[in-house]
Amino acid sequence: MMHADRRGFLARCARVAALSSVAAAFPHATLAFPRAAHMRPSWYPFRLGVASGSPRPTSVVLWTRVMFEAPDAAPAVGTALAVGWEIAEDEGFRRIAAKGKAAALPELAHSVHVDVTGLRPDRWYWYRFMLGDAVSPVARTRTAPAPDALPASLRFAFASCQHWEFGHYAAHRHIAAAAPDLIAFLGDYIYEWGPYQLEHPQVARRSDESITLGDYRSRYAQYKSDPHLQAAHHSAPWIVAWDDHEVANDYGNDRDGPLDPGFSMRRAAAYQAFYEHMPIRLPSLPAGDGRFAWLRMHDRYDWGRLARFHILDGRQYRSYQACPKRGRGGSNSVGADCAERLARERTLLGAEQEAWLANGFATSPAKWNILAQQTLMAQSTQSPIVKPGDGHFWTDGWDGYPAARERLFDDLMKYRPANPIVISGDVHSFFAADLKRDFNHAASSVNPVIATEFCGTSVTSNSRPQARTEQYVSHNPHMHYGRSDRRGFVLMEITPVKTVASFQALDDVSRPDSGLSTVASFKVEDGRPGVVRIA
Ligand code: FE
Ligand code: CA
Repeated sequence: MMHADRRGFLARCARVAALSSVAAAFPHATLAFPRAAHMRPSWYPFRLGVASGSPRPTSVVLWTRVMFEAPDAAPAVGTALAVGWEIAEDEGFRRIAAKGKAAALPELAHSVHVDVTGLRPDRWYWYRFMLGDAVSPVARTRTAPAPDALPASLRFAFASCQHWEFGHYAAHRHIAAAAPDLIAFLGDYIYEWGPYQLEHPQVARRSDESITLGDYRSRYAQYKSDPHLQAAHHSAPWIVAWDDHEVANDYGNDRDGPLDPGFSMRRAAAYQAFYEHMPIRLPSLPAGDGRFAWLRMHDRYDWGRLARFHILDGRQYRSYQACPKRGRGGSNSVGADCAERLARERTLLGAEQEAWLANGFATSPAKWNILAQQTLMAQSTQSPIVKPGDGHFWTDGWDGYPAARERLFDDLMKYRPANPIVISGDVHSFFAADLKRDFNHAASSVNPVIATEFCGTSVTSNSRPQARTEQYVSHNPHMHYGRSDRRGFVLMEITPVKTVASFQALDDVSRPDSGLSTVASFKVEDGRPGVVRIA
């Protein structure tokens, strides 16, 4: 399969990388206020658009990254800049709610993160950035409802896996058009490599792999240049999780597939680039040598008393994947020959995050508890299970960590947060599944459904043939729907009495103007976990 160079990105990357290395050469810059004279027409600094995210009842994070394009911009590249920002109650910016100046530091790729506070709960705002004469696009964002409010509804979209070379981001155009209250992105926002060829189904030859901070910055700049992706960012606040490809394929904790001894440096570069390009707030920036040796990603977001989002990090703290291929790290497909997979002490979230999640269940005031996370949680055996010990499992997802999954389910049963719904990505397929304490025990009288899972397909990334997905569904009776032949996203509408999930599929991912249709929709009623198909 050959994947075309979608938009001449190699040339673009080379240009961006050259400028990033200029920035790295000026680490101790002072804050400058560029004069209008710097603002040549070719010098538009907001080419990556703007974004907002991580909404609280009275605050939201505004983001942009100043990019330099024209050759005569070079003197400014190593300089810290003061970027103006405004947030208003109206699109015409007549009722300004807050404004100020924020530093865009070369050490952080001239990214800007403004944590605007003092806003009013449960309302829409408009915001923009200014640098010299240049004004960014105007974008829309909103705050979460007050903690004690019970909103009538919450509409959100969730998406994942947007490999640049596999198609256009028409899904994002449709997300923007749907005007949701919130967008959740569940990982693989970038892929760490460029175009590649699959010469044999299992042997991919990849090019231009990101290793350094400059590489990752270039990749984000490439992806964020897309107008449809920008439109989705401009339409609503995002909450974000990451998966493996923000760093390296199938990495776990501090180890990657090829067992690269320099991987922790690479991971720090990737984490820094993630921070630089996402509308997130960090408890603190790294101290000391400035390396992003770790990054606190997991967090909670409350939508009044209607919904609580538990955003999980299944990458940074996990036990290494069980029974990897000889001489390698990363994923494998294993059966009963891999006893390690079942070890009780194995963890996907790490002990600290597991305890934090249990506390989030115990304290949740919400009617609906949404676990927003990377990978498929439902058991997904690749071969039939007739007797105990049967089945084949992919070790990179929750199936590689069954004891950790049982602990999570035990915590759901112990703390009883209302209406748990798991949303996931990673597998480039739609799935709707019942989550059960013991997936191999069919009788629901002794093994009730304790949560519902909706897994979204990829925005662009390719997947397995539909016939193979139908085999998965038949081998896994708790799965009620599976679809891998379409790209798209999922729309969710939550009300106090029910949640509806609608699987949105593009007609043709190779077309920026692709149409969209609902291929299936499901409901979960308050107090009744489990998949019910409605269309
Ligand atoms: Fe992916
Ligand atoms: Ca992934």
